[in-house]
Amino acid sequence: LFLKNKNLLKHPIEYVKGVGPKKAEALQKELQIFNVGDILMDFPFRYVDKSEFYTISQAKNVGENESVQLVGILQNLQIMGEGRRKRLSATLRDDTGRLQLVWFKGVTWLYDKLQEGARYVAYGKLNDFNGNKNMPHPELEIYKPTNRPTLDAVYHSTDGLTKKGLDSKGRRNIIRNILPHIQATDIPENIPQHLLTQYKLPSRYDAIVQIHQPNDKNALKSAINRLKYEELFMIQMKLILSKINRKNQLKGYCFEKVGEKFLQFFNHELGFELTGAQKRVIKEIRQEVNAGSHMNRLVQGDVGSGKTIVAFMVMLLAIDNGFQAALMAPTEVLAYQHYKSLSETGKNLDISIEFLSGSVKGKKRAAILERLAAGEIDILIGTHALVEPPVIFKNLGLGIIDEQHRFGVKQRAALWKKNKPLPPHILVMTATPIPRTLAMTVYGDLDISLIDELPPGRREIQTLHKYESHRLTVFKMIADEIAKGRQAYIVYPLIEENEELELTSLYEGMIAIERSFPKPKFQISMVHGRMKPDDKEYEMQRFKNGETQIMVATTVIEVGVNVPNATLMVIEHTERFGLSQLHQLRGRVGRGGEQSYCVLMSGHKLTKEGRKRIETMVRTTNGFEIADVDLQLRGPGNIEGTQQSGVLKFNIANLKEDSRILAVARRDADDILKNDPALNDSKFQALKEFLSTDAASRNWWSRVS
Ligand code: ADP
Ligand code: MG
Repeated sequence: LFLKNKNLLKHPIEYVKGVGPKKAEALQKELQIFNVGDILMDFPFRYVDKSEFYTISQAKNVGENESVQLVGILQNLQIMGEGRRKRLSATLRDDTGRLQLVWFKGVTWLYDKLQEGARYVAYGKLNDFNGNKNMPHPELEIYKPTNRPTLDAVYHSTDGLTKKGLDSKGRRNIIRNILPHIQATDIPENIPQHLLTQYKLPSRYDAIVQIHQPNDKNALKSAINRLKYEELFMIQMKLILSKINRKNQLKGYCFEKVGEKFLQFFNHELGFELTGAQKRVIKEIRQEVNAGSHMNRLVQGDVGSGKTIVAFMVMLLAIDNGFQAALMAPTEVLAYQHYKSLSETGKNLDISIEFLSGSVKGKKRAAILERLAAGEIDILIGTHALVEPPVIFKNLGLGIIDEQHRFGVKQRAALWKKNKPLPPHILVMTATPIPRTLAMTVYGDLDISLIDELPPGRREIQTLHKYESHRLTVFKMIADEIAKGRQAYIVYPLIEENEELELTSLYEGMIAIERSFPKPKFQISMVHGRMKPDDKEYEMQRFKNGETQIMVATTVIEVGVNVPNATLMVIEHTERFGLSQLHQLRGRVGRGGEQSYCVLMSGHKLTKEGRKRIETMVRTTNGFEIADVDLQLRGPGNIEGTQQSGVLKFNIANLKEDSRILAVARRDADDILKNDPALNDSKFQALKEFLSTDAASRNWWSRVS
């Protein structure tokens, strides 16, 4: 019995006709479906297309694994075979031909039930048996002239649910019992009317009815579109609103002055002209840190686009205004490199820069901590050791995180807490070229600045694919570059969860390399994840100083290492790397003015995906294009930097397919909130109400970092 309840959507699922306590318990446990609203929002993931009748001759040409629906007369019903081979067979005949139907289960029961000579609708997959087509275990139903072809919803199910009769058919029955009781007023519209009109989208009520019980394919398509748009639109609304709230509520320090150090550096120390993109980003940041609100900004820029100098200049801005700055990098190698290069960059400025990581210990560490607390250190560079509790700043005004994708949300939050009363401004720098659509969602609560221009004079890196059998040619290339005074990297993949194997492959490679590049003419560095930080740093430094010509490494060098004289990157077992990793690795060369090369080595056996990755790398150096292919190949959940983000768990939308809807939804949400951030206009009342209800923000706040 379907009890009348004021708010039907809140009606407990248990009391819906045909459910009861046992099924209700299963629905709650397995699908978190507690009430009518929940089951209506659990959409089918595909449909069984019974919207067309095939003729038997047409059906015989349908591909494998596709289901067809036929109408015909049932003939020759007979039980055949004995014991385990016992089966029921029949023929279905229409004007175009005959098809054999066969059942191996429920034989006697079906034999009694089915009526020879009657017209049936048969639905099932065709099987090819010795060149003869048959249909095993078809669903049969007496044909009625009123039979309406349908699209039957298919729902996610589990063994537990199926056992309780909650397979797709069971679910369709529940929905059938619910829908007649639901009126349009129970599912009020939440999208402003002008947008529905503009995109010709059905109402929310219609869409939800149609997604469960589509009238036809067109109605289904509109319903899906509408619900995808709604989901993406609401997510964007919430992201932008939370950003607006943060800005209104969270005050930040004002860096009013463009002071002495910034200007001295800009006018006298900077050895080159900033690119247009760098200037624009510095300006965007300057405006924000001077507005009195808190900055939480992502700077996205391809490898080599010059993010570090932008970071440094913003740090000078903080220092000029009496604050300290911190720069956190994901690895010791990278952090130390930043420390070295920024110490050099700022050597003529009267500032104090120090380095801190887990390996800085004892008196040295104590001295740094003391000077930091006293405000005698202007810039502290290091690993996540920077945000550990004993590290106390006097007045941290700016925290920068390099290569964000290696850090979790936790570190970002920890940096926030490193100052009082106001949190430091936060700048996150990433070279992971995630597609814009994805960035908008994953980093939706951050402002985004884009450095979309490379410094002038860079030559496009030439990328080649070579098979293992051409190793000698590749070694010749290495020798040629070294003869020109350049350096080369040879990179081995990190073999996850098997460090032994990883080292073996590295050492074996090393032996072959040493044989072809013997001492003393050639000097080779080797760096891998198992080495002590000091030893790694020592080898990195030797390579950087040009004392060694070849750097053999595992992917520890992936992020941020800068040696402009290195012009050749050889990647071993390329097929084991993901696209974004390959792009990062390639970015280690092409940093000087010389022509650089990247050689992708692989075996002859490649998967389709592996081949596509290599082809993409050879075809383009554009990080965003590569990111798009990556998105297509792997789907959004696997793109680096997005895994931890629950933001990508959608109910119906799918970033791989719906990036255009997302872009439109983002723009619409932006437009609305730009003009009316509090949603005061009466035409936004329903939207406002929806955004403030529980259902809308279920899980929401836990999703947003
Ligand atoms: P990334 O964005 O990958 O971190 P870096 O900041 O390491 O890039 O910069 C790469 C190299 O380009 C560095 O050697 C840096 O000094 C140089 N560079 C940065 N900006 C410019 C510029 N505007 N003109 C010339 N060289 C630049
Ligand atoms: Mg960098």
